[in-house]
Amino acid sequence: MTIRKHVCVIGAGVSGLAAARSFKKRGHRVTVLERSHELGGVWEPSRSYPDVQTQSPKDLYRYTDKAMPKDFPEWPKGPQVFSYLSDYADDHGLRPLIRFDTAVSAMRRRDDGKPGWELDLETANGEKTSETFDFVAVCTGQFSEKNILTHPGQEEFEAEGGTVIHSSEYTDPAMVKGRNVTVLGFSKSATDIAVSAVKSGARSVTIVYLESVWRIPYFVGGLINFKRILYIRAQEKMFPGWSRSGFARFNHAVARPFIWAHWRALEALLTVQLKLNKTGLKPKDPIEGGVNCSVPIATPGFFEMVADGRIKAVQGTFASYEPGAIRLTGGELIKSDMAILAVGWKLGVPYLPAEYREKLVEPDGQYRLYRLIANPDIPDLGFVGFNSSFCTVLCADLAAEWLVRYADGKLAKQPTPEEMRANMDMMLHWRRNERPAAKIYGGLCVAPYHFKHFDELIDDMGARVKRRNPLAENLSPPDAGAYARYLRSAPDYQVA
Ligand SMILES: Cc1cc2nc3c(=O)[nH]c(=O)nc-3n(C[C@H](O)[C@H](O)[C@H](O)COP(=O)(O)OP(=O)(O)OC[C@H]3O[C@@H](n4cnc5c(N)ncnc54)[C@H](O)[C@@H]3O)c2cc1C
Repeated sequence: MTIRKHVCVIGAGVSGLAAARSFKKRGHRVTVLERSHELGGVWEPSRSYPDVQTQSPKDLYRYTDKAMPKDFPEWPKGPQVFSYLSDYADDHGLRPLIRFDTAVSAMRRRDDGKPGWELDLETANGEKTSETFDFVAVCTGQFSEKNILTHPGQEEFEAEGGTVIHSSEYTDPAMVKGRNVTVLGFSKSATDIAVSAVKSGARSVTIVYLESVWRIPYFVGGLINFKRILYIRAQEKMFPGWSRSGFARFNHAVARPFIWAHWRALEALLTVQLKLNKTGLKPKDPIEGGVNCSVPIATPGFFEMVADGRIKAVQGTFASYEPGAIRLTGGELIKSDMAILAVGWKLGVPYLPAEYREKLVEPDGQYRLYRLIANPDIPDLGFVGFNSSFCTVLCADLAAEWLVRYADGKLAKQPTPEEMRANMDMMLHWRRNERPAAKIYGGLCVAPYHFKHFDELIDDMGARVKRRNPLAENLSPPDAGAYARYLRSAPDYQVA
């Protein structure tokens, strides 16, 4: 019998809910610590910008055991995702397990000789306590610590009535009405905010970007839902994956001219559809080299607004603020009284002791995580949601199901520490030498290798059913309902 543990889940977003469900389901005692006043993480309403919606279609942004409501649109809006997550927490009785307004500020190994960790906690009203747990699931995501970017002259700019905010602070369209808005960055958030600012009555909108990147429209060619192209196994096979056999490498080499032609055709289609020549926003690099978690979906209306001048797109970055304006590195002066910095988030686990952070993160920022979930040199700890992707809810769900089994020694293929280290080394080598695009976000991005990653996880768990029929398996996107079936076919257990 496996011993019941007191498990701490840090974070109550998509991943924390998945982890809490998986450990609770096996009979563990679960405490979720969430520093915000509400669950949902990035989907918690006070953290979302107006009109936010998923990039993933709704059948790809769901847990295995709960579909999104039928009346939700294909790409649900922020409040709908939040209500889905709230319902999910209620369905599984998770809400009573969550301690809100409680941040983990530090942690260390227990000193009573037992496995586990002692965590330092701080409540919103400043109370500090410490608590011990037998196991910790880190579910704090990649979007919790804002990147802060300052430039000379900001104080004077603000003193003159200018405003500088991080993109996550753009929560009310009234903020931009009548103002000269400059958005820095070129992520999906940046283009969403630029379009929202135009629609919300900004006097002018400028977007300042370093390099243009390929974007995928919700409907490729105006007709085909991108999930039928970007997410399918047949497409995934066009990318060189890890652990390829000699035969797979040979096949890939033979198919190379066809694969090359496929990508050029897609680029040509996108160039026309998104008016990339007219706007001057055609990326320089081939599309296939850069497909990873940073590939944004095209914000509807963005390219049209650049083409007709409602949004001015300028290549460069900020050099300094001046009263009523922003100076760019190229010397250009942009009349502006509001800067919205879509400059992303700091990746990290700041509360982990330095000696363990060194084991987790290589000097070049690459994470050492087996299956992007666990490191054998950091005991009694695992990560859920660090396997980010284009369908992160499914990733978090499968990672949580994997992690509870790993923590309990119940994986059908429970790896030895040596096997884990060898695999982590192999993955690091692959990212550094064969697929540099996979180094994005510290190597914590599964896209575009969703199927390959999921195959490994369900195989480790001992699923007996692992595939749909060959046609569906190769030509349709991952099916969360099918993964529910695969999970049901894996050995299960309860703790004593
Ligand atoms: C605008 C936006 C749109 C997105 N759209 C998609 C999409 O369409 N498809 C997709 O796959 N992904 C999308 N993502 C990525 C998204 O982050 C993930 O899908 C998913 O929501 C991440 O969930 P998470 O629980 O791992 O992290 P988060 O949602 O970031 O939750 C982490 C939680 O941990 C808490 N926390 C952090 N530090 C501490 C601490 N020290 N102590 C206690 N609590 C702490 C935070 O308060 C937060 O509630 C989107 C992200 C954004 C920002």
